[in-house]
Amino acid sequence: MKKRVIAGIAAMLLAPSLAGQAQEIDPFARSRLEWNKPQTPFHVIGNIYYVGPAGVSAFLIVTPQGLILTDGGLPESASMIEANIKALGYDIKNVKLLLNSHAHFDHAGGLAQLKRDSGARLVASQADTPILEKGRIDFGPSTADPFPPVKVDRIVTEGDTISLGGVTLTASITPGHTPGCTNWTTTLTEGGVPLKVLFFCSITTGGNPLVNNPQYPSIAADYKASFARLRTMDVDVFLAPHGDQMDLPAKLKRLESGTQKGNPFIDRQALPRLIQIMERQFDAELARQQAAK
Ligand SMILES: [Zn+2]
Repeated sequence: MKKRVIAGIAAMLLAPSLAGQAQEIDPFARSRLEWNKPQTPFHVIGNIYYVGPAGVSAFLIVTPQGLILTDGGLPESASMIEANIKALGYDIKNVKLLLNSHAHFDHAGGLAQLKRDSGARLVASQADTPILEKGRIDFGPSTADPFPPVKVDRIVTEGDTISLGGVTLTASITPGHTPGCTNWTTTLTEGGVPLKVLFFCSITTGGNPLVNNPQYPSIAADYKASFARLRTMDVDVFLAPHGDQMDLPAKLKRLESGTQKGNPFIDRQALPRLIQIMERQFDAELARQQAAK
């Protein structure tokens, strides 16, 4: 009994330092628990459904010739994404194409399992392919978060398209957040009105080394060019890799309650709003890193 009490005290004393250590090793330890909270899958708009966990997005595009899935979430999200697809009445084996926004563990981590279980072809950008196939990125905040490597079946570059069942998606590469950060655009018709949909890659600065980055020397210039490009993009439906980048909780509430006339995901200001915030953060972070050099 006494032994057990002592062991208990020892565990309590050890716990904080272990927790501190774990956080140092993996800066995302806390975030990934939040990101991977369950989310009931739901219809977004047109032929698009949300099938990701609460904090990292995965979108299912339904076509008469099979399914397209964008992003695989964290490694531990794959089973949840599969269950969400099933809950909507679709079969994982009917996923023909897997797309990736960018090769970070929180969007590419589940791809290996999803590819294995679906038999789908994985489509990814040229510059992010080596990272996906290695299962880790060598710079930036998620270097400590490897993920199961996954073979890319089709490599795309700027302007390349993929098609399935009458749906065409176009790759537009905005390097910076990763070297091959890929936005996917498509058009759908809702109530007779054509809508341009953007599956956004991300352009957050968060932890990326912007100066003296030997793995990616052009990173700062790439970010700047990508901001300029994203500022000119005109999209009706903005879908982001993390829910908080697209006000997911609020939009979902409005979608479910029907309080907003029209679909809340039709939001032409969503992209410019976000880009303005992210560009300001980038400028401040670049200045900070240059000053610290
Ligand atoms: Zn990322």
